Amino acid sequence: MCQINEEDDEAFQALKAAAENKTAISRKCMSCDQDACVVVRIADPMCRKCFEEFFIHKFRSTLSKSNVFGRGERVLIAYSGGPSSTALLHLIADGLSVNARRRLQFQAHVAYIDESSLYPESIDIRDKVTDLITNRLQHPLHIVPIDDNLDKDHDFQQILTQRTKSLTAREELVRRRKLKLLFDIAIRENCTKLITGDNCTKLAAQILSDMAQGKGAHVALECVRIHS
Ligand SMILES: [Zn+2]
Repeated sequence: MCQINEEDDEAFQALKAAAENKTAISRKCMSCDQDACVVVRIADPMCRKCFEEFFIHKFRSTLSKSNVFGRGERVLIAYSGGPSSTALLHLIADGLSVNARRRLQFQAHVAYIDESSLYPESIDIRDKVTDLITNRLQHPLHIVPIDDNLDKDHDFQQILTQRTKSLTAREELVRRRKLKLLFDIAIRENCTKLITGDNCTKLAAQILSDMAQGKGAHVALECVRIHS
């Protein structure tokens, strides 16, 4: 997001060294007495199995209490193949399964923005995404290239190199382009909500970046995780 070389920063190096030397959590799981691997809610140690159960329960109870999604509503899930949206996709797929407690009731559609014209190596990711969504999870999949609906004489790579002068501007343009395409897919497929796999770290980075770019009062509008 920013262009400062973090590797040269003394504070960054100190934090990195501290993280590498961090010892494993030497506490027992609060639920089953196995060795804990994570501490949640400040002081509750949990093993992997108990943490997964806790996390899935939290996800479903939060959604069901909020009544965000109506029964049978068409909802578009933005999937990039990265860890956050993969976790989101699996949480939703699990919640939609017939045997799930507090079963989710909406219809899930999945959107993937194909960035292979910018990053040729991402063709492999696209193939894996197609296999996962279509064959294993069996949700409708909508793949749209990042060059979609552009003037035939220009591709997105050209626009990026010709019209932006900094890495920050390029990242912002790519982010906005992807969001625009996701909205287009949602409208075309009659999906009334769009879910993206943002996490707290991404949102924090986005807020700081937006503030640094002087967006002021619009910062709050840039960080909505469920778009209706
Ligand atoms: Zn446990």
